[in-house]
Amino acid sequence: MTRKLIYRFGLGETEGRAEWKELLGGKGANLAEMASMGIPVPPGFTITSEACVDYLRSSAIPEGLFENVRENLAWLERSTLKGFGGTENPLLVSVRSGAQSSMPGMMDTVLNLGLNDRTVLALARHSRSERFAFDAYRRLLAMFADVVLDVDRGLFDAPMHEARRRIARQRDLSIPGELEALARLVPDTVLGVPELRAVVEDYKAIIRSHAHQAFPDSPHEQLEATIVAVFKSWNNPRARLYRAMHNIPEGWGTAVNVQAMVFGNLGETSATGVAFTRDPSTGERRFFGEWLPNAQGEDVVAGVRTPLALAKAPDDNGSSLEELMRESYQELFAIQAKLEQRFRDMQDIEFTIEAGKLYLLQTRNGKRSARASVRIAVDMVGEGLIHPDEAILRVDPERLQELLFPAIDPRSTTVPLAKGIAASPGAVTGRAVFNADDAQAYAAKNEAVILVRAETSPEDLHGMKAAKGILTARGGATSHAAVVARGMGRPCVSGCAALNVDHVAARMTVHGADGSVVATIVQGDTLTIDGSSGKVYRGAVETVAAELGSEMEILLKWTDRVRRLRVRANADTPAQAEKALSFGAEGIGLCRTEHMFFSEERIAAVREMILARDVAARKRALDKLLPFQTRDFAQLFRVMKERPVNIRLLDPPLHEFLPKEDAQIAQLAVAMAVSVSDVKRRIAELYEYNPMLGHRGVRLGITFPEIPEMQVQAILDAACVVKKEGYDVHPEIMIPLAFSAAELLAMRQIVDAVAHETFQRHGIEVKFKFGTMIELPRAALLADQLAQQAEFFSFGTNDLTQTTLGVSRDDAGSFLPVYVERQMLPEDPFVTLDIEGVGELMRIAVEKSRVAHGEISLGVCGEHGGDPKSIEFFEQLGLGYVSCSPFRVPIARVAAAQAALRRTKRYWH
Ligand code: ADP
Ligand code: MG
Ligand code: MG
Repeated sequence: MTRKLIYRFGLGETEGRAEWKELLGGKGANLAEMASMGIPVPPGFTITSEACVDYLRSSAIPEGLFENVRENLAWLERSTLKGFGGTENPLLVSVRSGAQSSMPGMMDTVLNLGLNDRTVLALARHSRSERFAFDAYRRLLAMFADVVLDVDRGLFDAPMHEARRRIARQRDLSIPGELEALARLVPDTVLGVPELRAVVEDYKAIIRSHAHQAFPDSPHEQLEATIVAVFKSWNNPRARLYRAMHNIPEGWGTAVNVQAMVFGNLGETSATGVAFTRDPSTGERRFFGEWLPNAQGEDVVAGVRTPLALAKAPDDNGSSLEELMRESYQELFAIQAKLEQRFRDMQDIEFTIEAGKLYLLQTRNGKRSARASVRIAVDMVGEGLIHPDEAILRVDPERLQELLFPAIDPRSTTVPLAKGIAASPGAVTGRAVFNADDAQAYAAKNEAVILVRAETSPEDLHGMKAAKGILTARGGATSHAAVVARGMGRPCVSGCAALNVDHVAARMTVHGADGSVVATIVQGDTLTIDGSSGKVYRGAVETVAAELGSEMEILLKWTDRVRRLRVRANADTPAQAEKALSFGAEGIGLCRTEHMFFSEERIAAVREMILARDVAARKRALDKLLPFQTRDFAQLFRVMKERPVNIRLLDPPLHEFLPKEDAQIAQLAVAMAVSVSDVKRRIAELYEYNPMLGHRGVRLGITFPEIPEMQVQAILDAACVVKKEGYDVHPEIMIPLAFSAAELLAMRQIVDAVAHETFQRHGIEVKFKFGTMIELPRAALLADQLAQQAEFFSFGTNDLTQTTLGVSRDDAGSFLPVYVERQMLPEDPFVTLDIEGVGELMRIAVEKSRVAHGEISLGVCGEHGGDPKSIEFFEQLGLGYVSCSPFRVPIARVAAAQAALRRTKRYWH
């Protein structure tokens, strides 16, 4: 049997369904679903993504495809009583791309196919509007030229501007020099038949001279060429970039929808628009969107004309759809509610009204800001639409950091320059740049930039990615800029009408209410935008850290019920520990004691300890440090109370603590009453060729046992003191960089001796754990031996990655990105765990240590402890906890819950 390449939708013959997105693409599957639900959808058919994949693989049209297309067109003609290429009542179709997951605007669509010099006249007669027919024709010519013939779309602006000038002259209007101002003065809708006919002729001429061929007259030829072009658009550079950014597989391909046209540009009772069932920026439950009367397709999102509001609002001057086309609005409102119920998620909808009749053209789960994603998920649980487990799975943990985007300090008195639409939340400061390439160039130099555009288009994607924030003069909350910014998590202010952006001169003017210029911003000037309020400021503005928000707190509580992995934080100070607690940390997974050594008042004693000639002198120096360390640990225990606190003994090589400049060396010599040359000699002695693999970690403790002695003393003294205060503390003493059981045994003897003495002195005992960090391959391979001497292992995945790959993280910048780019490594192994390699060592260590020591506690304290993909792996390994920086604790909580839900398949569809 031959494979089915085409699925129909509409006219009671719908074959597809929402679940078949893989085959039909999101757009096609949902068009089919809407048709089945009885929602008015123009009929059509979907060519499967398999056909596209076939075509891309073999560069040949899949067998029988075009015959199939003709049969289905014949069906469309019969059922609509129109003829494709007909001279009575011509059928026009759109050809629309649509992959499995939506890639807004990344691939191509052509509208009004089927028009030529004859059918345009038939369309004019049949619709009784010559203006409409030629408007449709000029749109087809431009889109076809761009998508199919690869003619630069920009070339098609000039004839439109010329037409506008003609009108302006006829009406004795003074013609503004700026094209934007001209477009505002003479909008497309004002162009009449003679102008549009002239535009059509000019467009045909542009095609002839730039594509070296005439616009194809035959509707079937138009259609077939467009289908092929849409297949190919899967591989255009912006689609590729978008896929790379959103982890969409290259192999999917796009489905192609061929659909009967409906016309929003048929006059004043016609319209087109887009809507969201909830606010994609805040998540608030309110139906809203934008529309334009007498317009087609992309007009609303392209920002060519300023769109109007759907729902009635106090300041809309009666221009809302609700007021102007009441019945259509009500029908649309009912449909959107139905769609949300069916898809159980916020929908992003396209609709068109043709002569008073409403049609839905698309529905998809809407892109949203991180904050909105949390609020919508939590609200939908409250509304009974989804289960809390599903709510957890709906948020992207990686994006939760956006919740912590700074907000403008409410006490700030800085007056905004202008106000636009709050399109994607968060406040950011950066230098203004006026095109995407410049944004990329600045970002490459580590400059924060705000990309400023009149409006954005898919070509700007790389600049939007490089920018910290996006500001546009035109386009509303559904504009390209707004949708893409929310999807990428970039703060965005759109539709800031007070701005006049000149891309060529790389500057913009800001206009006051009376139109006068109140400010001029040139490339490189500092701007602050607040995507939560829509305000734009000159210069940098004071910000405050944002809060997680009450919905996020609710969601996090739910994650705690399903998650198996505990989440701890890496924290060195009481302040960090408090922060971690406020984000829900359940303990400290790594306290790096050297950070306590570095502080001003202690460094002298540390240096004395290092430079000491003999044990007695070293002990004297350590005695000075002991009270500092004891106090620090006591503070930490007081903050963490009964929660586990894992303290790592001194790790870095000693020379890191020594002065480098002559003045400091001289000072130290005086303080220690030794000669400068003595100090210098000792520093030279401590020099190492490769300190990363040198005298550090447990090796320090082996050669200078006084150091761990002092540190263990401080930990246990502090623990006893705080226990007496009434807290049941749980210290864990962690030995860094061990590769053998023998090292652990040596350290264990020190710990036991100190513990014995300390507990006797205090007259109480504190339960503590002794263990090690696994950060060397040998330690992982011999984990069963090490486990004999340890009650816990904590995988130090940063060093374990360095030592397993033989790659120094600090030196990797010059080659690792190339490896990732060429897919020789799936990701940066310092961000996402190298599961194949480092993960394999971990697996060996876990298995061996469990056999040797069933009760051993296992955790991770590398940076990977806060990375969702790595967490998924740690869940599969069955580790006990992950530990990450305080700010990533909420991310880890969500990621751990998702990993648990996925592992146990406990999620709802
Ligand atoms: P994208 O994926 O970029 O949104 P679409 O395929 O949705 O591209 O189409 C682009 C625009 O054309 C949308 O505004 C859509 O509503 C409109 N459009 C597509 N097909 C038709 C049609 N058959 N009739 C009227 N408008 C259409
Ligand atoms: Mg679009
Ligand atoms: Mg669309």
